[in-house]
Amino acid sequence: MNQEQAPKRKLLAVFAHPDDESFICGGTLAKYASEGVEITLVSATKGDMGRRMGNPPYLNRETMASAREQELREACDCLGIGRLIFFGIRDKTVEFEDEASLIGRIEALIQEVKPDVVLTFHERYGGHPDHCAIGKATTTAFRRSAEKGSLYFITFGDALERPERYGYTKKDVVRIDVHAHKAAKLAAFRAHRCQTEIDEWVWQSDNAALSRLGKYEYFMKGNVDAPQRASDDLF
Ligand SMILES: [Zn+2]
Repeated sequence: MNQEQAPKRKLLAVFAHPDDESFICGGTLAKYASEGVEITLVSATKGDMGRRMGNPPYLNRETMASAREQELREACDCLGIGRLIFFGIRDKTVEFEDEASLIGRIEALIQEVKPDVVLTFHERYGGHPDHCAIGKATTTAFRRSAEKGSLYFITFGDALERPERYGYTKKDVVRIDVHAHKAAKLAAFRAHRCQTEIDEWVWQSDNAALSRLGKYEYFMKGNVDAPQRASDDLF
């Protein structure tokens, strides 16, 4: 083995539902995967309480978990995510999990993977109780056990074009150009069929659908005391 070969960069994403990874930061995951970054994704639940049941509806509460698991596996292939872990928590109940044991599971994963970058939800701005709960547990786990690396919070759309609204400044924001990876992101949207069938734009021609995806994805720095980093790169 070539001793001078740079060690593989690693990214650990800890989210709540199948589709969080694609809808919120699919372009960024595809970009880093294409650069050889090793990506591990945790989905705390299988999204079994999702309100969208396909269009026309063909899923029910019994069949939803396995359908969404399969869809997420396909989305991971589209984005280049190599390892997928389910925590097996029931959808919409992450906030009721025993917090210490949830934190412990994430700490064990951080110690095993030794990620350079950890992505999760902000514990207050996650937008859904499951998102906030997994974000809070992951933030605690990172602060307790990560020996290296950077923590970032994923954010929705262009919300962080004006970070002042959230009590942050531009210095706390990383903006990733995902223009070259929109096709992979769109493929991942389409892999999550039962969630996107109702969204007409996803199924328009590729060009029309791609034009609906933003050029940038935004991340909020989670460990602001970390050394100053680039504003356009997570690593
Ligand atoms: Zn979600």
